[in-house]
Formats: sequence, C-alpha cells, structure tokens
Amino acid sequence: SRKKGGLITCFSEESDMLRCRQLSSIFRAQKLRLDRRLYPVSISMAIHSQRGLNTPKLYTQRASFCSNNNNSHDRDPDDENTHENEEKNTETDEQQQMQAPAVRFPVNGGVSILSQTGRLTGMESSTNMDVQQFPRSVFMIPVTRPFLPGFTVGITISKDSAIELLRHQKENKVTYIGMFLCSDNDSKQKVNGTIHSVGTLAEVKNISASRGTSGYAKQQQLIISSVGRIKLAPNETPTFSHKDLSIKNVDIVPLQSPDYDKGSSEAKYYRSQILSCISNMVQISSAHRVQYAHISTVNPQELSYIADIAAFLSTNSIPVIQDILEESDVIQRAHKSLKLISNELTILKIRLDLQATQLQNLKEFTKKQKEEGTKTVGEPKWRDRMKEFPPPAYVQEVINEEMEKYSTMQPSSSEYATVRNYIDWLTQMPWGKYTKDNFDLDAAEKILEENHYGLKDVKERILEFIAVGAMKQQIETAVSHGKIICLIGSPGVGKTSIGKSIAAALQRQFHRIAVGGMRDVSEIKGHRRTYIGSLPGKIVQAIKHAKSFNPVVVIDEIEKLSRSGEGDPAAALLEVLDPEQNKEFMDHYLDIPIDLSQVLFVCTGNSIQSIPEPLMDRMEVIEVPGYTTYEKVKIAEDYLIPKAAKETGLDPAVVKLARPDLHHLIDSYCREPGVRVLQQKIESLYRQAAVSIVKKESNELVLNKDNLQEYLGKPSYSISEAYLDAPPGIVVGLGYTGFGGNILILETVSYPVSGEGSAQAVKITGNLGQVLIESATVAQAYARTLLRKFEPENNFFDKNNVSIHLPNGAVKKEGPSAGIALVSALVSLATGKQVDAKLAMTGEVTLTGRIIAVGGIKEKMLGAQRSGIERICLPEENRFDFEELDDTLKNEFTEVKFFSRYEQLYQHLFQNEQSSPQKE
Ligand code: ADP
Repeated sequence: SRKKGGLITCFSEESDMLRCRQLSSIFRAQKLRLDRRLYPVSISMAIHSQRGLNTPKLYTQRASFCSNNNNSHDRDPDDENTHENEEKNTETDEQQQMQAPAVRFPVNGGVSILSQTGRLTGMESSTNMDVQQFPRSVFMIPVTRPFLPGFTVGITISKDSAIELLRHQKENKVTYIGMFLCSDNDSKQKVNGTIHSVGTLAEVKNISASRGTSGYAKQQQLIISSVGRIKLAPNETPTFSHKDLSIKNVDIVPLQSPDYDKGSSEAKYYRSQILSCISNMVQISSAHRVQYAHISTVNPQELSYIADIAAFLSTNSIPVIQDILEESDVIQRAHKSLKLISNELTILKIRLDLQATQLQNLKEFTKKQKEEGTKTVGEPKWRDRMKEFPPPAYVQEVINEEMEKYSTMQPSSSEYATVRNYIDWLTQMPWGKYTKDNFDLDAAEKILEENHYGLKDVKERILEFIAVGAMKQQIETAVSHGKIICLIGSPGVGKTSIGKSIAAALQRQFHRIAVGGMRDVSEIKGHRRTYIGSLPGKIVQAIKHAKSFNPVVVIDEIEKLSRSGEGDPAAALLEVLDPEQNKEFMDHYLDIPIDLSQVLFVCTGNSIQSIPEPLMDRMEVIEVPGYTTYEKVKIAEDYLIPKAAKETGLDPAVVKLARPDLHHLIDSYCREPGVRVLQQKIESLYRQAAVSIVKKESNELVLNKDNLQEYLGKPSYSISEAYLDAPPGIVVGLGYTGFGGNILILETVSYPVSGEGSAQAVKITGNLGQVLIESATVAQAYARTLLRKFEPENNFFDKNNVSIHLPNGAVKKEGPSAGIALVSALVSLATGKQVDAKLAMTGEVTLTGRIIAVGGIKEKMLGAQRSGIERICLPEENRFDFEELDDTLKNEFTEVKFFSRYEQLYQHLFQNEQSSPQKE
C-alpha cells in the first residue's frame, strides 16, 4: 500500500478484483475516506512483495482468506446482513465503528490486507464454507501446537503421510485434514492421554518436499489454511504413537457455536475492547506490529475472528490456545480473549516501562561509569593535583578527554608520552589559586625600606599601586588601569630585587623571566604539542612555579629581546602584557586560554633605546639611577654587609672596615653605577674572613686602605688619572650607556698638510654611531667659525689634518651629547691651550654655537663623580635636571657651570673667564 494525500491504495494478493463493499467496510473501520474512483484496485504488486517474505515463520503466520469460493448461499444469516446491507447500513456500521477504536490494519511492506470472500462467521468457519459442508471424516494430523481458524500455516509431516495425502488429494480434489493437539498436558477433553478431541479443520493448499541436510526428503511441508473448529466424533478414540507415524482417518463433527446477537451490547463491548487492545498493542510493540502485519483480515467486525486474532497475538501458551479453540461460545471466547489480550497489554506496558527505566538506568550507569572512569583513569598524582587545584569546567573537559585517550594508549606509542606530559602540565597549573593581596600601605612601605636603600621614585610608584588596589580592593584593576612598570637602569642598581620586594610587599608569589637574547616566539608562547620535547612558554612556566595565577612576574632585560625567523617575541610579549589581550592568553602548548589579567608584570632593562615601540607604549618607565659613593657606602653598611655576614654565617663585626676605608674600597674597586660588584667584593671579604677563622689563623679581618689590595687585588684602572697631565687637544666628555654614565675621553692629534695640498675633513674613530660622527662634522665646522671670530690669524685647520679618537673601542658610543666636548678638543688643539683634566662637559652644539640640553644628567654626574671629576660644564637647559639631584651628589663637585652658547664656554675654558657665564 502507499499513502498518498490521505488516500490508501490497496492491492489484493490474488489475481482478482477487490470487492468494493469489503474495501469500503475496511476503510470505514479505519475511519479513512474512500475514493470511489479507486475501485477496482489493481493487485499484482502485493503478490510480488509477498514473495519477498521468505522467512517460514512469517509465512506460517500469514492469514489466509484467499478462497475464490463465492458461494453466497453458504453464508450465515449474519454474514448476509453484513454483506448485502453494508452499503445501506453505513450509518449503523459507522456508529459501531465509532465505538470500536480504529485498528490500523496492516498496510506496510506490500503485504496484502485482505482476501475476497473469506470471513469468519458466528459459526465456525473462516471461509464461506458452511459447517454443514464440513467433511465427516478427515486425515488426522497430530500437532504440537493448536491452530486457531483463519490462518494459513506451514506444517511438516512425514513423507509417507504426505504421499498418502497426495494420493487422496488427487482423487477428491480438495483434501481436508484435521489437526489435533497431541500433548502431555492436562486437558479436560484429552483422549487416550495424548490427543485432544477439539481440533482445527484445515484445507491442504500445497504439499512440498522439505529437504533435510542429507538432501533426501524425509519430510514434506504442507501449506494449510485452517477453516474451522471440529471435534472428534464420539466414537473416535484415536491414539498416537511416535513409532507409528502413519496418517489416520478419523470421524469428525463440526464444533457448533451457539448463536449470539451480534448487535448486542455485550458483543459490541467485546469487539470494541478487543480492537482497542489490539490497536494499543500494535502501536506500542514493534514485535506485535510485525506479527500483526502478517495477519489478513476480512471483516474486523466479526467478533469470533477478532477473538481469535487477540488470542493469537497475546499468548504462546499451548493450553491457553487450546482452551480458546475448544471454546464454542463466541461471547465466552471473546471474554477469554479480552482477558488474555488485556493481560498481555498490561504486561507489555509494564515491560516497556521497565525497559524505559532500565534504559534510563543503563544510561545513568554508563554516564556515571564514564565519570567514575575518568576519575579512575590516569595517574593518582593527577587526581591529587586536581583535588588541590580543581580546574575550571572547560579545562576539566580537556583533561578528561586526554585521560580517556591516555587510558586506551599503548605505552610504546609515540603519542603516549606527549599526552602524558600534556596532562601533567594541565594538572600542574594552579587553577583558581589567587593569593590574597596585602593592602596595608605601612607594612608594604616597611618591607620596601627594609630591602632597598634609596630608590625613592620606585618605592613611591609601588605604594601608589597598592593604594589604588586598596581603594579598588584588587591590584588587578590598578594594573589594568595603570601601565606595566618598567624599571630602567644600569646593572646592579636593584631592578630585579625591587621586583622581589614588590611581591613581598603585596604578599604575592614572585617569579623572574629573563628574556634577554630570546629569539623565538615559542619561548614565550610555548611550542605546539606536535613537536617532540615541546614545552609551554615562559609565562605558563612562571604561573606553574609561582603556584598562583596572580604572582609578580619580573621580565628581565626586556630591551635585549631579539628577533629571528621564528616570529617576533616582542609581539608575543605584547600579548602577554596588554591588559586588553591577556585575559585570554593562549599558550601554544596548553592550547586553552588562561587568564593573566591578575599577574603583576614588572619589566626591567638597561636602557629604553632598544625596547620595541609598541611595548614601550604599554609601559610606565621608571628610571633607576646609579648610586653615588655616599649611597654605596650606606647600602654596603645597611644591606650588603649584614647580608654577606648572614650568608657566610659570621658576625658582621668580623670584618673590620672603617667608613673611610669603605669609601676608599668603593672608589678604587666599585666605580660602576650599581652595587653588584660592591656586593661581590664584600662577600669575598667575608668568605676570606671565614677561611681564616676556620683555619684558626685569626678571628677577624681588619682592613684598611693599605691592606685592601692584599684581599681584593689590584684596584680598577681610572682613566681620568692617566690624563691628568694631558697635552692640548684632550678633553673629558660625559657619556651615558646602558651600563651607566661615564667619562668620555676625546683625544685629538694633528699633522701638517703635506706640500701644497689643503686640509682634509676631520677623521673620527672609536666605535661611533652615526649621530656622533655627524656631530663631529658639526663641531669641526663650528670650531673653524669660532676661531675665525676669536682668533682670525689662526689658520691651524687650513694647515693641518686632524684626527679625533674616543678610546675604549669595545664600547659603542652614540649620541649628540659630546658636541661641546668635540668643539673644545678641536679648539684646544688649534690654540694649543690645555683644558683642565678634572673638568668634564656634556651638551649638544649646533652649527651656530647654541648649546642644547642632553639626557642622563644624573647618570653622567654619577659617572663624573666616580671618575674623580671636580668641575662640570652643562647646557643651561639642563640646569633643572642638575638641581633635582641629591645634594650629596651635587656637593661632590667643586664647580658646575651652565652655558647656553659655546662662545661663553670658549671664554670660560680658554680666555680665563673674561666674559664670565652664569656661575653656580
Ligand atoms: P639589577 O636587576 O638592577 O641588575 P639586582 O636587583 O640584581 O640588580 O641587584 C643586585 C644586588 O644589589 C642585589 O643583591 C640587591 O639586593 C642589591 N641592591 C641593589 N640596589 C640596592 C639598594 N638600593 N639597596 C640595597 N641593596 C641593593
């Protein structure tokens, strides 16, 4: 059948037309609209489909109403009524149908629904065959299952019996057999202990050989169509012996059913109830649906037939089926069948419910097992770690997946170690761990003071951070609103250690990452897990080591980040530092976003020059200047000596070093801006003291100016001292590099132009940058103009070639700040007038002789002081920077003068202050 727009097209399995009335009655039963244009309906397809049903089981269950017998006179009176008056009684029928729930008769799979004339009647016939026409004697076939009338089945009989049957069939055309249950079960009407007296009359449709495994047909298969209920004649007492399987002829009588009123409410009740049960059963159970699909029906109104279908569908029990078979009263039979089918339906519903709960339980069980499984797979240390730091859901999901993968892997597989390392890392991260910040400003200040001397600016800035954090109750907000702190200063000035103090002040964890020389993005962002030996980047490692997601991370030597073919580490660092991006930082190895927004980053570097611009943009630079000798003495006394003593396990007083001697030590050995070398020297002294104490040579180390060399070796070489008696043409400038400020000696020499040639441009050497070379050109041009103005007769530059050299060739020198020193050196050379070797100068000069401000005044002053410079010349524009300096540093110099034009400086240096500039 095919469903088309609400119409059902039906096919008959026989090569015959469907009878319109039957069709219409079926359609009414199913509350379907019947399109009369469809009469008659074509038939061939169903037969074809039928052949597809090749399973014997299905075949035996297929109902048969295929008789071509159209003996209308054989019909019982009820049948007549239903047949002839069906059209007329549409109303009545439909009313009846309304009471009975519609049973959707099988329409699927191309199985035919109906036959032509076959219908069960109140009398015991599934065909039109009148019980009166039932044969009086039949071959008795003992069966192990009773058959209800109205079904076509296949049964197997012995070969001899089949031959007998065939012979009989040939003679009488139609052969009937009587099928009687042969069992050991108790039955009221059991005859001779094994044969039941009530059986089924069946018409033999076909006899075919059923081949055994040996290929020899010992048995034959009968296709029979059960016709009606029969009973052994009273005189018959057949016996059945397994030894004697020969077919027997027995006398029978039809099993007459008492008449019943089809229109009675009782009949209607049973009909509707049974149909309702069948409908429900077919709907909820697919097994019954299949079974039902192979039952043909003629007239669903026929109670006798409905009762048999219900019994057929609802039980497998042989005694029960036999009981239904033996029941001649249709109402009684319907009653029994209804009981059976409703019981079956109840059981079915319970079973379905049970199945549903079982399924649910199973689902829950497997889900739980899966969860449990993930709890038990993997290594115990992972579970312990996860207990300590429970990962967020999105991470847990990844861990579970990986653990499942891990549990199914062979340890020998290459991926095994990768997955294992990955889980190791995931479980080692301190998920959800944030240390509580300390917002106690006084306590923080105390910690900073305890650890570091000076560094006023830095300490103030850190206290500002904490104060803002206290206001907002979280440092993270302070960080994202402010910028990342970047501490710039010479080595050993305490940049890293101040980072440590910040962590201590905030009571956060501390971690240091050195990015100097880092060339590869993967060092910051990690390697992808596909690489062998891959690891997460430094940032993830820092979080893991700090065991919290809000540590203070010092990124050291940020200006030394370099770049290679493997991407730009500065760009990766930008992702880490940018508060806009670092909320979901993605490490290549971890491959899951992590939140860095609460990490307090502090960057350090020696100079800002080579820090990438975008990084600079996000940082707040705080310069950490070098220390004066006085400061160094303080640091040594208050911090370094107690520290060194503690580390060597000695009393600080063991090393006896008076303050002037300490001063001398610093001046002679520790001239660099920071205190690292000083720290090393002090530590060395304490170690030596420890040695002599252990050797029992002495209990203390008494040091003074004279014996320092004995313990610390040769003092550092002081350049300026070498030039104390310098010839004209040598001038001391002041320079500033990443390693702090220092003096810059400018040496000039001249040699006369040979022959008639003219002087060449000044040659300048000494590892110089472009700007410094340019400023030498400017200086030469300006020196010539100056000389022409002040000493017109001096033709030195016309007669001589000049070379300038800046010693210390290993150190790269750059910048315009040597401008005035260059001019002074050239003028000194040209005029033959010496410049005081204890005088140092810094300042840019223009072609017109203007002196412009330069940077790094404090560093340069520190450098000058360390080198023993006493007199300083600075641009007027830098007066403010100088005044900002500590008095202790300012007081280191005997004279500091400021100039806005070089003429003034010229007069100061070479004309014995005839026109005096501003004096300090
Ligand atoms: P940087 O990172 O600037 O190279 P460090 O922070 O490593 O320098 O400092 C080197 C050593 O000098 C550390 O032991 C530190 O304690 C000490 N130090 C530096 N500055 C100070 C200071 N202002 N007070 C006390 N100790 C200091």
